[in-house]
Amino acid sequence: MNVLLLGAGGREHALAWKLAQSPKLTRLFAAPGNPGIAAHAELVEIDPADHRAVIDFCIRNSIALVVVGPEAPLVDGLADNLRTMGIAVFGPNKAAAQLEGSKGFTKDLCARANIPTAAYVRAMSKDGALAALGDFGFPVVVKADGLAAGKGVIIAETREEAEAAVEDMFSGSFGAAGAEVVIEEFMTGEEASFFALCDGTTVLPFGSAQDHKRVGEGDTGPNTGGMGAYSPARVLTPELEQRVMDEIVAPTARAMADAGMPYSGVFFAGLMLTEQGPRLIEYNVRFGDPECQVLMMRLEDDLLDLLLATAEGRLADMARPAMKAETALTVVMAAKGYPGTPEKGGAITGLDAAEATGAKVFHAGTAIKNGALIANGGRVLNVTATGPSVTAAQTAAYKAVDAIDFTSGFCRRDIGWREVEREKT
Ligand code: ATP
Repeated sequence: MNVLLLGAGGREHALAWKLAQSPKLTRLFAAPGNPGIAAHAELVEIDPADHRAVIDFCIRNSIALVVVGPEAPLVDGLADNLRTMGIAVFGPNKAAAQLEGSKGFTKDLCARANIPTAAYVRAMSKDGALAALGDFGFPVVVKADGLAAGKGVIIAETREEAEAAVEDMFSGSFGAAGAEVVIEEFMTGEEASFFALCDGTTVLPFGSAQDHKRVGEGDTGPNTGGMGAYSPARVLTPELEQRVMDEIVAPTARAMADAGMPYSGVFFAGLMLTEQGPRLIEYNVRFGDPECQVLMMRLEDDLLDLLLATAEGRLADMARPAMKAETALTVVMAAKGYPGTPEKGGAITGLDAAEATGAKVFHAGTAIKNGALIANGGRVLNVTATGPSVTAAQTAAYKAVDAIDFTSGFCRRDIGWREVEREKT
């Protein structure tokens, strides 16, 4: 069968690599893709924001499944338009994508379904938000309601900081995303991510991961899209995973169906493991980047089968996806300057040598210029390796990193440090 994959990052390279392993795949297309994805797919120049162009392409090329990598096309209703045309799609409809697109929507759903999460107040005006601050202690969390590329969350230590965050969000600097603000109780604990496939009714666990959001070693410095990740997250024990399924993910699926917006796609639950148990921080409506890369390294089953069964509402007939027991760890190599203004055009060599160590190098922001590979974005490569422990996977990943020559790039040298420390004891 023919499949169209939308997106251009390391997440989509990992999806393409795994989809290409399916014996059921005839042709894989990717729009717009990247040089790494080009090894597995035919790249096509379609803008995923141009729904008409995506639909026309699907019809002309007998596409049996569209896999949407990033959130923006989903929040924008691409899946609705494809489904209206009878084209199967992996990813939720616009209404269900509010789980990521509106933090207030998700908090209200959690309240209705009794899902453990931080206490909150939604505020549509600056005065309302300032008044709501009185309901919370400090630190307090101030969030823009809509998509803000990870920049719409401020942890305010003092009343002054919280007021400044509220002022900033209502000043228009977040555009439509800041038309509403959510004020939240600050939760303490360790963070972990949990993934589950859902076809509207049936939910199947898809594994866990932990990532490193800060640019600097020891989790310091500004936030990024993610500097590395590993899977599984050992802190999320089988018992805790069961609680996440029973107390958070399954009730979400039921509440979405009850609200007339059944959820089809992957739930990416950001969790805080508090002393009272796992509590939801947020939902994303697509795979994480770079979490997807480590999940795909561990997946033993046919990804195309799983994504198609999700899209077609057949998960009840499927077994829980089988994952290798070993750890997968990915190190993001970024261009100097990231997450500010990354240096573009830096030469990259040594990828074959890196993969000869047994690692897999996924491309994110790369391009080909005059036949040579160059950096073309903030996050550039995801160097991914597996091992029997986080320590072993980390050692293997850095061995591969060291085989790469990318002088205008950098990476953190401590991805997985928390688990590496725990493994020492
Ligand atoms: P991203 O897209 O980067 O995951 P986001 O903008 O969608 O982020 P959240 O995931 O809701 O926003 O929050 C970002 C980070 O802020 C979380 O990973 C967590 O570290 C912190 N955070 C958010 N809400 C809370 C909370 N209630 N208590 C403590 N920390 C929080």
